[in-house]
Amino acid sequence: MKSTSLSPAEVTRYSLQIAMEGWGRESQERLKASRVLIAGAGGVAAAVALHLLSTGVGALRVVDASRVALPDLNTTVLYRERDLGKTKATIAERRLKELNPFALVEGQGKTFSEHNVYRLSSGCNLLIDAMNRPQVGHLLNQAAVRQRLPLIHAWVGEMDGVVTTCWPGRGPCLACVLPEGAPERKAALMGPIPGVVGALVAFEALRILGAQGPGLVGRLLIFQGEPFAFVDKHLKPAPDCPVCGHRKS
Ligand SMILES: [Zn+2]
Repeated sequence: MKSTSLSPAEVTRYSLQIAMEGWGRESQERLKASRVLIAGAGGVAAAVALHLLSTGVGALRVVDASRVALPDLNTTVLYRERDLGKTKATIAERRLKELNPFALVEGQGKTFSEHNVYRLSSGCNLLIDAMNRPQVGHLLNQAAVRQRLPLIHAWVGEMDGVVTTCWPGRGPCLACVLPEGAPERKAALMGPIPGVVGALVAFEALRILGAQGPGLVGRLLIFQGEPFAFVDKHLKPAPDCPVCGHRKS
C-alpha cells in the first residue's frame, strides 16, 4: 500500500496519534491511503466507522440494505429519531462525512450476494464483517481468500462480543474456525456491547493499515459481559478447509 502525504491541517488534526511511538507520520499516511469495506451499518459497524473516520482512514465503503428501526437507537450511536425508516447506508454516509472532510465515505444500500461481493470489495485494502449474519461472513471470507485481503470478523449477542482477523497466507480463514459461521443468536443485546467490540475492531484495523501488524490473526478474542472478562482462544488453519485449504500458507 503506498502512502499519501498529509496537509498541515491533517497533521494538526492527527497530532496526538502521530506523536505515538511506533505510529508517526508514516503510518498516518498509510492510513490515509487506505480504503476499507465495512459490511453492515448497525451497532458494531457504526462504532468501527466513527473510530476509523476520526483516526484518519482515507476511504470507507459502508454496505447495508436495512433501514433504521427504533431498536437500533438502543445500540447504534450513529442514528437519531429523525432517521427512523431511512436506509442506514444513506444516513451513515451523510453523518460520517460530517465527521471528517478529508475522508471519502460511500454508503451503499445493497444486500451482499455471491454476485456482488467481489465488486463491493474491489479496491479495498481491508474487509470488516460487522453484519452479524453468518452467510455474509462467509461471502466476505471467500472474497478475502480469493483477493488475499485481511478480513476482520466481529459478532455480538446479548452481553458477549467476538473479534478475530482472517488473513489468507498468515492464519486460518473464517471457514477454518467457524465452518457454520457464528451461531444465530436471539435478538437480545446490551447497548454498549457493539461499542466495545467496534473499538477493538477499529484498533485492529489501525494496526493492519498502519503496518504495525495484526494482533488477532489465529486468535479469537471474546468479551464476556458476565463475568466482565476477556477470553483469548488460539485458532489453527483447517488443512481440509474448503475455502483456503488448498492454498499454501
Ligand atoms: Zn480456511
